[in-house]
Amino acid sequence: MKQVFVPPFPLKKAFFSHEMQEYLRTTYKREAYRFRQIETAIFHQREIDFAAMTNLPKQMRDDLARECTIIPFHLVKCVEDEEVVKFLFAGDDGQVFETVLMYHRSTHHESKLNRMTLCISSQVWCAVWCTFCVTGTLGLRRNLTMPEILGQVLYVNHYIKMKRGKKENGSWHGIRNVVYMGMGEPLMNYPNVKASVPYLTSEVYLGLSRRRVTISTSWFPHAIKTMADDKLPVSFAFSLHASTQALREELVPFAKRFPLDELMRLCDYYTQTTGQEIFYEYVIIDAVNDSDQCAHDTGKLLKWRRAHLNVIPYNESPAVTYREPSPDRVRRFQMIVKSYGVMVTIRQNRGRKSKGACWQLGREQAKILVWKGGKR
Ligand code: SAH
Ligand code: SF4
Repeated sequence: MKQVFVPPFPLKKAFFSHEMQEYLRTTYKREAYRFRQIETAIFHQREIDFAAMTNLPKQMRDDLARECTIIPFHLVKCVEDEEVVKFLFAGDDGQVFETVLMYHRSTHHESKLNRMTLCISSQVWCAVWCTFCVTGTLGLRRNLTMPEILGQVLYVNHYIKMKRGKKENGSWHGIRNVVYMGMGEPLMNYPNVKASVPYLTSEVYLGLSRRRVTISTSWFPHAIKTMADDKLPVSFAFSLHASTQALREELVPFAKRFPLDELMRLCDYYTQTTGQEIFYEYVIIDAVNDSDQCAHDTGKLLKWRRAHLNVIPYNESPAVTYREPSPDRVRRFQMIVKSYGVMVTIRQNRGRKSKGACWQLGREQAKILVWKGGKR
């Protein structure tokens, strides 16, 4: 018998959804200042529960709690080690997605926490099917809504508040960088991703600088152009992985739909229009894209561009058969690309202990949950 998924809480509208905001503004139009109080409680005091907003009248708190919710999903599982905390969330339709909090510690004092980066999802899994990516083996379920995207940041900031409290200077510990590098292809869900950005970067809300908010894409040409024209205040990362069309098609199947040289022209359009450099991401895989020839191709491709190459050693997973190259191979690749005058950083993979970083959720867990929900 097919099991029916029952959400663990009654379905409520998301506080940050357009319709709820409109409804509340009409309902409380004589008390507009109350909205600023709520926003201050959410973004500055890191509250995610109306009941805790004691500066609001009790009746209003009760009404809001009955009508809507700030976090429109619930936590299914949380796995933690000294490098990362991984959160598996489920939307009210039972679809699961993942968020990863990464701790960056001081190189001199391991116990000293320098900053925290949050890796957020933009879709429930992904349609691009990159051959090296665990999310790519799952296929797309749906786009995340804007409140679900923003809710990941609000939820984790609240989690950090509860866990770490205040700094010596009296301000709350919190996320300093947000990267749209979790599950999904952010530019395939551009309207919702775009709508979430002002809440991260505007001074009125979280006030993160554009350098600290990064959107990563593997393709999706139309949205690259729109994002440039919108001058969206974010850093842009382009997932390159291969510097020839043939090899890229092997790794990123959607690459067949749009040639690399045209994508590079769009990247150039982005740098010209925004004045910003682009971070090119290169997941380096043993005997696939780590040869000297690949490094020369990459150096030639990027040498005249405003580019910073991030080389990411492939993070192994039982779900995919590739292997990680040796550290010497990775350093040689870096040296060759650098010889073309390109800035290159080798990025360390985080969260291996708790089953990989952003892109490697408890995959089995996700599958079980979706089966239970009878959604497949
Ligand atoms: N879909 C977007 C953003 C999410 S993926 C994109 O592809 O850009 C975020 C990053 O994780 C990408 O750069 C991706 O290539 C990388 N990644 C995916 N699987 C990986 C693995 N097994 N090891 C290392 N990096 C991986
Ligand atoms: Fe999707 Fe990015 Fe994974 Fe490719 S690397 S399958 S685009 S999440």
